[in-house]
Amino acid sequence: MRTVAVTRIGSLRDPDESARGRIGIVDMPQPDLGPEDVRIRVAYSAICGSDPHLAEGFFGTDVPIGLGHELSGVIEALGERAHRNGLRVGDRVSGNFLRFCGTCRPCQEGRQQFCENIQDYNRPGMAETITWHESQVYRLPDEVTLRQGCLLEPTSVAVRIADKTRIRVGDRVAICGGGPIGQLTLQVLKMYGATSLTMIEPIAERREMALRHGAQHVIDPVAEDQQVRADAITDGRGYDIVVDASGSPRAVQGLLDIAAKGATVVYGAMYPHDFAMPLNLSDYLYLKELTLTGVFVSPYAFPRALQVLPLLDLRELTEAVFDLDDATEAFAVHVSGRHPKVLLRCNDIDDLGSAS
Ligand SMILES: [Zn+2]
Ligand SMILES: [Zn+2]
Repeated sequence: MRTVAVTRIGSLRDPDESARGRIGIVDMPQPDLGPEDVRIRVAYSAICGSDPHLAEGFFGTDVPIGLGHELSGVIEALGERAHRNGLRVGDRVSGNFLRFCGTCRPCQEGRQQFCENIQDYNRPGMAETITWHESQVYRLPDEVTLRQGCLLEPTSVAVRIADKTRIRVGDRVAICGGGPIGQLTLQVLKMYGATSLTMIEPIAERREMALRHGAQHVIDPVAEDQQVRADAITDGRGYDIVVDASGSPRAVQGLLDIAAKGATVVYGAMYPHDFAMPLNLSDYLYLKELTLTGVFVSPYAFPRALQVLPLLDLRELTEAVFDLDDATEAFAVHVSGRHPKVLLRCNDIDDLGSAS
């Protein structure tokens, strides 16, 4: 089965071609269909900002590493017991790339994100088919196309980020990083009653995209003084909620200074293993009583992500589409930052949803 994979570990941005990480198409076996499993013919699989980190060996260095955890498709086979959620052959679906086992202690304590068997069904979705446990699979609403449906997983991350902000209607909110997670978080927090909603982003196109989707202010952290702008926007009080969706070591520390007293700062991205941020405990935790938190994966967020998916404007996140065979080029385009999101068309499936 043709599957997109990391075939050589290294940064996809390395100017030295001989050291650069490599993405290619390899042949991987199709897993057996267990009694509770669902086989999905994949329609679209989106490239995630975390995929280049996998190429750098963040989660291991044994190649090939199959990629793809943001996908949509159509069910083509069901195990004999995989009917408990009413799934049928032909259903248009998306899902959670992680299967939470339900049996380990963290699962029993309501903390599925720490499931000790989380990798068992984590399979590559940039492939012709994917075989998941039925608990991972969600039927898409009729009004969501397959092309939009592959964004269920990143939407679940935005929902989880919103959960962790513990936002109240009227809170002042700043989001740092206008990539897909930042843009989706912006739309979700807007729905939630965010005010003074500000996108901090150095790339002009991404700032403009944020303005088209509900941002009231944008800050260019390179050309402008972020602190001065934030003070002007918030009357010198700072933001009640600050979300980092940039993962940029250069950006993260300044976010503590634009946070209001008592604010929550959610570091909602992936960060380099060896990066440590200095933290003045007296200033930020004693005097300002900040709450600092992060997001690993998004348990309990998928059913709600499915509810908000039809309400989001996903057009600009679904415009760039490449065929599976052109995956190498698709990753090069992703790395170039020319499009906010790049999708792979893994099979040519008639999309019966509404026009995208
Ligand atoms: Zn992702
Ligand atoms: Zn578990």
